[in-house]
Amino acid sequence: MKIACTACDYSAALDRAVHPCPSCGEPVELHYDPGEIDPAAAIAGQGRQQGILSDLSPVLPPFAPTERVSLGEGGTPLVHLSRLGRRLGLPNLFLKYEGANPTGSFKDRGTAVALTQAVRTGYTLAGTVSSGNMAASVAAYAARAGLECHIMVPAHLRPEKVFTIAVYGPKLYRVEGDYSELYRKALALGRERGIFFAVSDEPFRVEGQKTTGYEVVRDLARLGLAPTHVFNPTSAGGHTAGLLKGFEEMAEYRAIATKPAVVAVQAAGCSPIATAFARGETRITRVEHPATEAHAIQNPFPPSGNRVLRALARAGRGAATAVTDEAMRRAQLALAHGEGLFVQMESAASLAAVEEWRGAGRLGPSDVVVLIASGSGLKNPGAFAPSDFPVADVRLDDLRWAIK
Ligand SMILES: *Cc1c(COP(=O)(O)O)cnc(C)c1O
Ligand SMILES: [Zn+2]
Repeated sequence: MKIACTACDYSAALDRAVHPCPSCGEPVELHYDPGEIDPAAAIAGQGRQQGILSDLSPVLPPFAPTERVSLGEGGTPLVHLSRLGRRLGLPNLFLKYEGANPTGSFKDRGTAVALTQAVRTGYTLAGTVSSGNMAASVAAYAARAGLECHIMVPAHLRPEKVFTIAVYGPKLYRVEGDYSELYRKALALGRERGIFFAVSDEPFRVEGQKTTGYEVVRDLARLGLAPTHVFNPTSAGGHTAGLLKGFEEMAEYRAIATKPAVVAVQAAGCSPIATAFARGETRITRVEHPATEAHAIQNPFPPSGNRVLRALARAGRGAATAVTDEAMRRAQLALAHGEGLFVQMESAASLAAVEEWRGAGRLGPSDVVVLIASGSGLKNPGAFAPSDFPVADVRLDDLRWAIK
């Protein structure tokens, strides 16, 4: 097992926290030697709901049970969307409900692996740079592990979001200035001060993020199905990179016959990866004026953007695509009204993209389509105004007449 660059020939032993590549600046990742992981065993496992570090240990670094920093992440429901699927002519439409994770988003998978690695390599300080879900996740797991935690958030973060992070007791810094510059600076300061920054594409975090893909394959296999398409809301690109890495591993070890097409879904108002993909370019261009309310997928210069483009090219299928805020909101309400699932607006981007692809004939009834719903709608109740949903105010004596 070693650390290797996703773009150049650089590699390093695992005893240091190296990230990103000191030679070319692109993300590094974990490389396993043949036989060090066992994807077939991971897929055949039962999913005992004891956290990914236990349930999916065959495809993760060999952590001792006593070293695990876990809150029981993963093992999230794979929900069959029968009603929406019928409407769309997709009888095999499924949703992976990542809102069921301990802090309400898929970030907990990566945080569990990253902070376990931090603790076992002797770090006492952890941190991250985030505008929401990642910050809450790292703060929670740092509290769990007894690590001192340093969280950097952008200056404009809404107060109701700040509480969801601050409640875990981290040192919280609201930073004025360019967000992608903040990412680079924080990593440099982390190296200097001994802070393990569990950022979006930190290599151990990506090992955790790949487990979403393993669970999708495992849970569908029990129904006698295999995924043909996986749609994933994408910002920094860590989750999509993890999914692609997981499917590559499964195919390489012949645990699956064919890899599903992974579709990275971005917001039309900030879509550096989808734009580069549409133009056939191999490198992303910074988005100068992001214009979307979907803040969780609003990274104008995603650190794993080029890497996702490389992985999609290597996979030979899959795509990056963009949807409007309006389509996301419609999809969010369709999931709540039609299936009883309240997901974050950003998470509904995957359904919005599926609707578009189905309309364009890019998906058919024989496809097995999985929407990754990255986070819970309860994370962001402020997204709605009281007037969005009419409520009848009634006196008790009039209730009889009010029910219509
Ligand atoms: C972080 C996040 C994303 C984007 O994930 P990346 O790994 O940054 O691409 C999407 N949806 C939600 C709800 C998130 O919290
Ligand atoms: Zn490199």
